[in-house]
Amino acid sequence: MISMTTSHSEGQALADRLRRELRERNQAKRRCHTAVSNARRDGKLVRPNRCENCDRKTVPGGASKIVAHHENYNKPLDILWLCTGCHSFHHTKLWRIEHELPEIVEPMVAGHSLLHA
Ligand SMILES: [Zn+2]
Ligand SMILES: [Zn+2]
Repeated sequence: MISMTTSHSEGQALADRLRRELRERNQAKRRCHTAVSNARRDGKLVRPNRCENCDRKTVPGGASKIVAHHENYNKPLDILWLCTGCHSFHHTKLWRIEHELPEIVEPMVAGHSLLHA
């Protein structure tokens, strides 16, 4: 039986905070997707045929497509149009650590080699 140490409960509190944070983010994310599809339906937003990050053009019916990426889920119509390749990169762990939840994730990974892998 391992006794509860201070660092264990601190880790637990951090994990709870991260979970809560992610749940709120998921709700905000859903609101964003609704806002984008409504705006597109109303013609307020038009999907371009090229990626804003790598400039790759897509062809109709092609494997790669342009998706709406939100840098900030509190700004539903502030989007970045990315090809599927750039988009999945944006959602990798490293990207998230660096851009999405730095103040929460950093203490959790401090001491681990994740950031320098
Ligand atoms: Zn791209
Ligand atoms: Zn995205």
